[in-house]
Amino acid sequence: MTVMSSPAPFDAGSVQLPANLPEPLVRQLRAASNDRERSQALIDLARHLRDTSMHGAQQVGEAALELALQADAPAEAILALIGLSFVAAHLNQLERSSDAVTRAQELIREHDLRDLQAPLLNVRALTHMLIGDLISAQQDLQESLELARQQRDPLDTGNALVNLAWLANNRDEPGEALHHLNLLEEHVHALRDPELRSDLNNYLHENRAHSYALLARQARDRGRPEAVQHAAQQGLMVLRAARTALEILPSRTTEVLCYAHESTLRLLSGDLAGAQLAADRAAELHSGLDQQLYIEVNLCLAELSEARGHHAAALDEYQVALGIVRSQHRHRDTQRILQAISAMHERAGQYPQALRAAREALVDAQDALRRMNVTTQRQAQQDASSWQDRLRQAETQARQDPLTGLLNRRGLEEGLLTLQTPDGGPVAALFVDIDHFKRVNDRHSHAGGDRALKGVADVLRTQLARWPGALLARYGGEEFVLIAPVSDATQAHALAEGCRRAVAAHAWSTLLPGTNLTASVGYAVEPAHRLPEALTLADEHLYRAKRAGRNRVYPPSD
Ligand code: GH3
Ligand code: MG
Ligand code: MG
Repeated sequence: MTVMSSPAPFDAGSVQLPANLPEPLVRQLRAASNDRERSQALIDLARHLRDTSMHGAQQVGEAALELALQADAPAEAILALIGLSFVAAHLNQLERSSDAVTRAQELIREHDLRDLQAPLLNVRALTHMLIGDLISAQQDLQESLELARQQRDPLDTGNALVNLAWLANNRDEPGEALHHLNLLEEHVHALRDPELRSDLNNYLHENRAHSYALLARQARDRGRPEAVQHAAQQGLMVLRAARTALEILPSRTTEVLCYAHESTLRLLSGDLAGAQLAADRAAELHSGLDQQLYIEVNLCLAELSEARGHHAAALDEYQVALGIVRSQHRHRDTQRILQAISAMHERAGQYPQALRAAREALVDAQDALRRMNVTTQRQAQQDASSWQDRLRQAETQARQDPLTGLLNRRGLEEGLLTLQTPDGGPVAALFVDIDHFKRVNDRHSHAGGDRALKGVADVLRTQLARWPGALLARYGGEEFVLIAPVSDATQAHALAEGCRRAVAAHAWSTLLPGTNLTASVGYAVEPAHRLPEALTLADEHLYRAKRAGRNRVYPPSD
């Protein structure tokens, strides 16, 4: 498949121009006095059409290319080819897309048009990106940015920064994306051309909102509700700026993505109704586009369904998205969706299904390996091995708290099934909760808080080393649970008091200058078969220890 498949001479009447074109574009086309100018006008027109109809843009772009070649206008031919490569990539005509890149590259070399190298690399990066070769995409974009800066080209510089941010978000690195977007904001501020400024502003806000949605999601996955709220508020603020920018320069695709981000942000901040409204709006706008490029809408609807407890409906949405990306061989996105499905099953405690989705992703990554050519193999190989690792680690990971290495809640529950007690004798359940932990975070940042959590985990681990058969878990944020076979309540009290004293006596000043950590402990002793009751009671006792002034054990020894 090549771009130059129809060498018939261009007939202006053969291109169907849609109604409602912006007046300046129509004027430019009418005012064109030769084929070169007409070609330029059609290139601009095609760029405008991309927002609502990729097929329309492709038709007009082909016409522009024909004219440019007839007029012996290599610069216009290259620009037309760059546009055509972009459009073909979005229509999943990957071969056609890279053919256009190759042709443009040849013309650039032949006519020594080096200032067109930056936009060419920019679109080549997109082609790499869509087939999943993130490494090559990153390289092309960085080179494109350097060239554009050398040539002081504001459009190419802006495009490279937008795409670097987009790529970082797609790698799930929102921090990196925000860095590129800050650079973009400075760049936009210094721009004179109002139209270019509006154009880049749309991209700036949309990608920023995406970054905050990712940050909020990462915070949720780490169990940090405050950070979730913070990121969600930031994201919603960015979306207000986006709305203003979109009024200045409307863009359907940007609007679809903004509503999708809004839905995610509202969902993460607990506003289900708002999330649903935004998702519906995104779906409605998306259905007006003629290409199925964005799976964001399906992913939003899936997450919403999950939040409502409708797992079957969520799976349906994921399947629709999978259908789209699989038919387009979008290996990265396939991985992403399978990961989401796997995570959903994991959250629901459906481990066999979670493993099945993980396995499917592994098979998909291996398939992609076979399908792709040498340049794209590196990335796919990484994905294949990381899924293999995941499968291998799935067992441990599902049971372990990543920060402290202790059991997590799920791990504890499984551990309890195999808890060995001599003749079903008594067990002690202990809740250990760090006192005023919020202050630790406030004073020493969350990183400091995390260090403290690890420190407390180590202290408790040391305490329990002498207690065969005991289980130690991080139960929630700064709360730990210990389960140990004991002979009687006196021994349980000694264990609780030992834990409390060990935390209070530990030298925290190296880890947390100026802060002394203490913990409160609630415990209860019950026969092994009444362990659930023991846990409930211990939790109540913890509350009493807090109320009695903290840094103490409840019940006290008699
Ligand atoms: P109290 O003495 O009553 O227990 O006060 P507290 O501040 O310790 O209790 P509270 O339960 O209100 O706050 C717990 C805090 O722990 C809130 C949350 O920000 C923080 N937290 C939860 N998980 C993590 C984590 O993984 N890392 C860090 N750094 N902080 C966490
Ligand atoms: Mg606490
Ligand atoms: Mg607590």
